[in-house]
Amino acid sequence: MNRRLTALFIFLSCVFMVSAKYSLLPKPMHVEKISGKFVFSEHTQIICSDSNLHPLAIQLNEMLKPAMGLDLLLPKSDNKSVIQLTQLKDNSETGKEGYQLKVTSRKIEISASHPAGFFYAFQTLLQLLPPQIYSSSVNEKIKWYVDGILIKDKPTFVWRGIMLDVSRQFFGIDFLKKYINWMAANKLNVFHLHLSDDEGWRVEIKSLPKLTEIGSWRGHEEALPPVHGSGNQRYGGFYTQAQLKELIEYAANKYITIVPEIDLPGHSKSEAVSYPEILCLSNDTSESVQGVKNNVWCVGREENYEMLEKIISEMAPLFPSEYFHVGGDEVNHHVWETCPRCQELMKKMSYTDVGQLQGYFIKRMEIILNKYGKKMLGWDEILKTPNLKSESAVMAWSSFEAGKKALETQHKVVFSPSKYFYIDMAQGIGERGHNWATFIPLERVYQFPIPNDTSGNLLGLQANLWAEYLDRPPYQTEYQSYPRLCALSELAWTGQNDDFQEFNQRLVSQHYERMYYQGIYFRLQPPEIKISKGKYYEINKIPNTITYYTTDTLNKSGWLMFKNGMKKIPHNNILFRSCFHGKIYSPIVSVSHKLLAQWDEHLLNENTTGILSIPVTKKFNSSADGSILFQYSYGTDYLQIAKMEIYSDNVLKFAMEFKEPKILSSRNPQCKCIIPNGLLKEKTPYRIVLYLTGEFPKDNTGKILFVEN
Ligand SMILES: [Zn+2]
Repeated sequence: MNRRLTALFIFLSCVFMVSAKYSLLPKPMHVEKISGKFVFSEHTQIICSDSNLHPLAIQLNEMLKPAMGLDLLLPKSDNKSVIQLTQLKDNSETGKEGYQLKVTSRKIEISASHPAGFFYAFQTLLQLLPPQIYSSSVNEKIKWYVDGILIKDKPTFVWRGIMLDVSRQFFGIDFLKKYINWMAANKLNVFHLHLSDDEGWRVEIKSLPKLTEIGSWRGHEEALPPVHGSGNQRYGGFYTQAQLKELIEYAANKYITIVPEIDLPGHSKSEAVSYPEILCLSNDTSESVQGVKNNVWCVGREENYEMLEKIISEMAPLFPSEYFHVGGDEVNHHVWETCPRCQELMKKMSYTDVGQLQGYFIKRMEIILNKYGKKMLGWDEILKTPNLKSESAVMAWSSFEAGKKALETQHKVVFSPSKYFYIDMAQGIGERGHNWATFIPLERVYQFPIPNDTSGNLLGLQANLWAEYLDRPPYQTEYQSYPRLCALSELAWTGQNDDFQEFNQRLVSQHYERMYYQGIYFRLQPPEIKISKGKYYEINKIPNTITYYTTDTLNKSGWLMFKNGMKKIPHNNILFRSCFHGKIYSPIVSVSHKLLAQWDEHLLNENTTGILSIPVTKKFNSSADGSILFQYSYGTDYLQIAKMEIYSDNVLKFAMEFKEPKILSSRNPQCKCIIPNGLLKEKTPYRIVLYLTGEFPKDNTGKILFVEN
């Protein structure tokens, strides 16, 4: 290693050590340790290089005051302890959202060229302080100081978003504000509100009052039936324009843009029950993908565009967002086939396929939105629209490829593929959520293959949280959001995702604490319990967790505190869970089985012959009797195993052919195969060979585990 390389290596090691120590999330672009530490005291004051920065000084003071109990705006007699805000005239280094933060023993210097940059520097500063900085009451015991550091930072993507479906479940304004606070702490900046769907209309339109009188409510006595756990009572609600205005301002103060979505021309049952005249003149009884009838706007009814214009004319001035989302997804085109108005329009336009009516409709929406100063944004189905304006943007949800294709067509694109960023998907076996795309554990979000775009059309990344399963338990929205949004934030801010373990270390070592003090009920990683020499041991213990066990595996009650070295209970009749700060519980798990081998998409892509040869990483030091457990982790394709062989030193030790292939997918996440007693007993390396059948999977990840008897 030459000297320059050595220096680089030492530099990189320091940067890594520093970032690990501070556990900043998302990870800043550049971090450098400086000697000294800055201590906050009654002498500390915030000063600004320019009077126009004063509102930012107020904002920073408001962030620090509740927990510190110090008023940093009060003028002090000396300048010994200063937080200096400096306006950069030139933004060539920082861009609009970047900043520099330098902490020395006497000064914290924050410089940026735009307010958003200061705001993100404040968020980083909060992360450099003890996590109690997020609490709303003064904590006398904490010493408030920051170690010397220099941070230069800016985001990779301008769109770091999350969509919340407020139609299928209704969320009050107070909850949305809390959600916005959490987003800001993670440097997310786009809050996409899905304001309409079959299950509820959520925005006041003064010229069309029935939308909220009728379309916002579900129940046995209502036009919309009770679904998604809304029960017997009248359920629903909507946001008044005054409430939305306030919410939009609240978000803007945290540099978050609220992007509205009205999902058209399908997903529109709530509009159709309010104004049935918007439907086609046909007795069509076909259903949408979600099994809903009569939920599509008639494309041939000219008055519908007048109505839609009324909606846009009231909503567009309310939302300062550059983009307005019109949905465009999953439209049931059949309804247009038998409608005389739609058929007449087809004739007039010389269309040969009803699908072309969708393009017509989207084009009309584009014109209306442009008239009110908005650019159109839609789900990737809108790409089929002929002559779609290049300024209209695409949100790629259906696949990664759809996003790539959109980039090629020179439209601005936000990637939110269901296989990675649909955080309504369950996070693992037995957890609440959808599973049609795949399970989406934290690791899966993190492993999204960030496109290498040189066109400048990739706006960014977004997670989508649909609300079918958010009705219970009460914290489910938070549980599904965090920490998966931490992974999304890391990807969208840094544009990088090369080391999940390092990211996860930052998350569990310090960011869990921060989320806890922000009041987020996040998904706590379950404990890993191993058996060794007849005793239980917890590995990778997370700070501030207590682990419990129960032998009441049926009722899952009677939890007792777990202690390392506890004697093994016969027949594995034992369950474990962790609890963070006595408040946040992890999922319930059994003993962690021995990991023999893993398969993932890389292995699949290397072995397209249909035979997977997987080395066993675990060596058996003593004879072990038990079974082999195939456990799916995530991925969209089915892995179908027809035959398994176990080799030791290239000698076939065991073979098993399955009458019916063993299928591994989100719907069938695990299967067990009993192997002869004592088979895996030697210290020699093993290899498990799987013969696959059916369509060869490209995207499927899982583990082969050994379950001891
Ligand atoms: Zn029609």
